[in-house]
Amino acid sequence: MLAKKPPKTLQQAIVYFADPDMALATMIRLRWPDGVIKCPTCGSQKVAFIRSRMVWECAEKHAKRQFSVKVGTIMEDSPIKLDKWLTAMWLIANAKNGISSYELARSIGVTQKSAWFMLHRIRLAMQGEDGGRLGGYVEVDETYIGGKARFMSGERKRRLSAKRPFGGKVPVMGLLQRAPEGGVSQVKTVVIAAHKRLKKAAMQSLVRERVDSGSTVNTDALKSYIGLDREYIHKVIDHAEAYAQGTVHTNGLENYWSLLKRMLHGTYVSVEPFHLFRYLDEQAFRFNMRKLSDFARFALTAGNVFGKRLTFNALTGNDLPQSC
Ligand SMILES: [Zn+2]
Repeated sequence: MLAKKPPKTLQQAIVYFADPDMALATMIRLRWPDGVIKCPTCGSQKVAFIRSRMVWECAEKHAKRQFSVKVGTIMEDSPIKLDKWLTAMWLIANAKNGISSYELARSIGVTQKSAWFMLHRIRLAMQGEDGGRLGGYVEVDETYIGGKARFMSGERKRRLSAKRPFGGKVPVMGLLQRAPEGGVSQVKTVVIAAHKRLKKAAMQSLVRERVDSGSTVNTDALKSYIGLDREYIHKVIDHAEAYAQGTVHTNGLENYWSLLKRMLHGTYVSVEPFHLFRYLDEQAFRFNMRKLSDFARFALTAGNVFGKRLTFNALTGNDLPQSC
């Protein structure tokens, strides 16, 4: 019998998930971490596995007695097999610059339309990883993203927006918590709704909802941020004068905006403003989880399909079957 370890690379993941038993075992581990399979309709544990169809049948009398591991998840109404779903999750959780529906379609052999559907569903699972509020040293900055994902620097965008408000671009606020000792920096991004654009109270409530009071907040000299010092230690860097003064800067976010730009411009090319927040969340997920292994990022994504918090063993793959 061929021993199979939990996958570490894309190539191993494809081989691992291609085995229907391994793919199913992976999903069972993520969905029922205690190994007890329960009927999603009535919660009964009296279920029998029907191997030929890879479904269970509940012993209780009710509708929908038969269920697959996909029932009640983002995959429920999809005819696409588990191996393709799992490989797609691996790809999107780990592709640094994202993956387009065309690329995914070619990689796993589905139509572009199916790939588009899968990617949007998987992004839903990635959104579950919010990570809580930010604190300590936090940078706050905005950028503008257009249909072609063009980015402009602060001064230029302000000059232009005075003439033509936003020029059809979507304003996005970024909040970046600098890495604490031994940790990694964390980012949150939020699309600034049309009616809130640059309005002081609205901009500041976006910050308050996401950052603990008492934190040190670095912003540029935008008027919308005046008054943040009531709850925060507010440090201002006037970008017309300098990019940084000691620890007062928003360079962490500047770097993040360029990462985001590479993803949107290179992979997704044109993103509808309506869908923009999904791509923002996708990139924030990979950025915030960047120190984890590929398997752990995959498991976090796949685990969220069931809305499950994962144990350390689930994140390392240690409780997956090691051989078949
Ligand atoms: Zn039942």
